[in-house]
Amino acid sequence: MPSSDYDSASLPDLLPLYYRRLFPFSQYYRWLNYGGVQKNYFQNREFSFTLKDDIYVRYQSFTTQNELEKEMQKMNPYKIDIGAVYSHRPSQHNTVKSGTFQALEKELVFDIDMTDYDDVRSCCSAADICSKCWTLMTIAIRILDRALRDDFGFQHLLWVYSGRRGVHCWVCDEAARKLSVAARSAVAEYLSLVKGGEETMKKVSLSDPIHPFIRESLLVVEQYFPRYGLQEQDILGRKESVDKHLIKELDLPLTLPSNVRKDLQQDFQNERKPEVRWKLIRDHATKKKAAGKKGHHFDKEIMLQYCYPRLDVNVSKGVNHLLKTIHAFMTTTSLSSLLTRTCSSFNLDQDAFLFPSTLKNWIDLILFAFFFLIPVKTDGITFFSLICEELDRPRIGEEEEKAEDDKDKENEKDAAERRKIRDYKRTSLAKYVKCFDQFLDGIAQSRKGELLRKSDLQKDF
Ligand SMILES: [Zn+2]
Repeated sequence: MPSSDYDSASLPDLLPLYYRRLFPFSQYYRWLNYGGVQKNYFQNREFSFTLKDDIYVRYQSFTTQNELEKEMQKMNPYKIDIGAVYSHRPSQHNTVKSGTFQALEKELVFDIDMTDYDDVRSCCSAADICSKCWTLMTIAIRILDRALRDDFGFQHLLWVYSGRRGVHCWVCDEAARKLSVAARSAVAEYLSLVKGGEETMKKVSLSDPIHPFIRESLLVVEQYFPRYGLQEQDILGRKESVDKHLIKELDLPLTLPSNVRKDLQQDFQNERKPEVRWKLIRDHATKKKAAGKKGHHFDKEIMLQYCYPRLDVNVSKGVNHLLKTIHAFMTTTSLSSLLTRTCSSFNLDQDAFLFPSTLKNWIDLILFAFFFLIPVKTDGITFFSLICEELDRPRIGEEEEKAEDDKDKENEKDAAERRKIRDYKRTSLAKYVKCFDQFLDGIAQSRKGELLRKSDLQKDF
């Protein structure tokens, strides 16, 4: 298939290939089965599929990996959502007494969507994203990743590109999966700082003493603000496009207290450089602080209002909320432009994209998503086509594998399984499957540790 031939109409042809040769079923099952420690954990999990022509089917559930595999190969879903673990098999929800079918557990999930930042980015709006505003996602991941690990003690965080215009985080620790709706709300509230809708001008208000969590978050924001806020979004500039709510008179942010705006008016008229203007604001804050005056955090408030992560709290709260799984199909070009631009920024400024988690940097995160986002156009070349070409390319070691296959003839199933593993291993996807494997290894290790601890405790009695 020539690379340039891709269009969404070819999905019905591509999907069977994808589910037959590439989809990482064993990892998927390994993830959602969580070691089989809890009875029926995988079996009672809801999946929902979006099929061709937007046909949406809920309450799918499967007893084994094999059944999941067969069903997905039969239905070839365009999109898969993962729901909660229920009290009964979701596929039989109609047969149980009403009121008894209940969502019991689910990963704690976070959804950060670029559209929620529309009031503070001038480069794009709605579903558009570019490498400039993608910085907001970098900031969000760094702040939330740190807080979830250090402040809440979670260890197993899976960050993935959400498939359209943001990122999802799946917190997979056992303690997180068991959280009640109230506890999930409390975590989401703790992490929410930017408050108020379109009409609210000042969305961040700090008071003394600043909470340690906010202080930590500021450390991250301060690294990105000069480039993102001052240069790329030019928030202190005089452009027409700058945010209507924050900047109105004389380029001075309206979130500043009116007396500060008055004090700075003259200085701003004489000074055009955004960096110097920003320094004027910061110096003013320092002076106010030294004089022991209240309300001297206005510089920090501006930075947070522009850069602090905006969570869709409702997604995190619910146990029965469905979230698109890390596998999803993209038919728009947004990811391609995002990827291209991110790659170029990545080359320019590697440090800016360093990301302290199992995925070492942004490029990993985004490419990792590709592992689940196959038919994506990247500058006219379909990533999917590339993968297919890789699949069909002969490579070193092929001969030995053939010999291995012959040996396996008597055990057809094993051979098929091995062939499938090799199929993605011979493509660029291998690296990202490995990433996912490492993530799953981490969960397995914790589980083992926990089981050992429990058996030691029993011995003590
Ligand atoms: Zn943008």
